[in-house]
Amino acid sequence: MQGQLFDGRTARPWSVTIQVENGRVVVRAVEEPSVGLDWPLREVRETLRSDGRYSLSRGDEDARLIVEAEGWRALAGRSHGEIKRRGRGREWALVGGLVGAGLAVAAVVFIGVPMAAGPLARHTPPELEARFGVSMEKQLTVPFRPCKTDTEAAQLLSDLGERLGKAADAPFPIRVRAIRAPFVNAFALPGGTILVTGRLIEEARGPDELAAVLAHEIAHVERRHVMQAAWRAMGAGLLLDAVVGGGSGAGQQLVVLAGGFADHRFSRTLEAEADDRAIQILHAQNISTQGMADFFDRLANRGDDPRLRQAAEWFQTHPDTAGRADKAKRAIRPGQPALSDRDWAVLDRVCRVVDAPKPKSRNAVR
Ligand SMILES: [Zn+2]
Repeated sequence: MQGQLFDGRTARPWSVTIQVENGRVVVRAVEEPSVGLDWPLREVRETLRSDGRYSLSRGDEDARLIVEAEGWRALAGRSHGEIKRRGRGREWALVGGLVGAGLAVAAVVFIGVPMAAGPLARHTPPELEARFGVSMEKQLTVPFRPCKTDTEAAQLLSDLGERLGKAADAPFPIRVRAIRAPFVNAFALPGGTILVTGRLIEEARGPDELAAVLAHEIAHVERRHVMQAAWRAMGAGLLLDAVVGGGSGAGQQLVVLAGGFADHRFSRTLEAEADDRAIQILHAQNISTQGMADFFDRLANRGDDPRLRQAAEWFQTHPDTAGRADKAKRAIRPGQPALSDRDWAVLDRVCRVVDAPKPKSRNAVR
């Protein structure tokens, strides 16, 4: 059968042929026979994506193979009865994920192994992560009202996110929405939704700068960093309560926790990983990383002014901006602007094409 391979080193997807022989999955790129995979079938992990296809992976390898569900089931089932018998419906994947998650949670809680958040996140079924994201978005958009969504500006923002998302291999479609908040920030929620503040969009001096921030957040989604942070921040009991139980008490607690989650920090390792991946995503969409370098440069210089620095949470949750600007500069290749001047002028006003006038008091506080 045919499929798509993300080899984990470059952002381009390869068209591949997939065969199952003697219990091994053998994958070859159509145009480049030296590119391929050879995985033992029993070690292949299947994740059902929201588009109904499977994302296949193995252990900690970065490579991802995207296949049509029916074709894959037939191919894998023919030479590997066990997978077929298990069936792996959505519900079973969820239950299996929860049982696996429960074990990892026990490790976190009782043995005190914070490292378990990583494996836990990678094994969280996308359906569960998506449900958690929806619940969290509901909570967050109470204090931070969404900017109007039925405008051309909102559509342009959402299209830009979708376009960048295509270069990534997230198990969810990427949805970008603008919110009103008195700070410069962007953050990814579980399940592929990225919230970006109107202030950040105003702070960006061009579409490439915004694209860089979005690509970075998309990388956090793709690598399941977001879910990892959620597990770590919330503790499993509450998370499961909120998502599975749907109890009313949990919702209130979630509001408090969501605040803490929104400004959590990823480790430096995860940040560096997201930057590297963001550079690949931008290049795959033919967008120069000059915008990324400029944005980091400006935030780094802001660091000298404590008043301005306070206004830029993205700076605080993303330290070492100078070093990161250098990395983006080293990766610079010419590209096309992420949006035309005209479209950028429209998008730039996404939170100002509005109903309510912006309260002046918010600015005065800063
Ligand atoms: Zn980040």
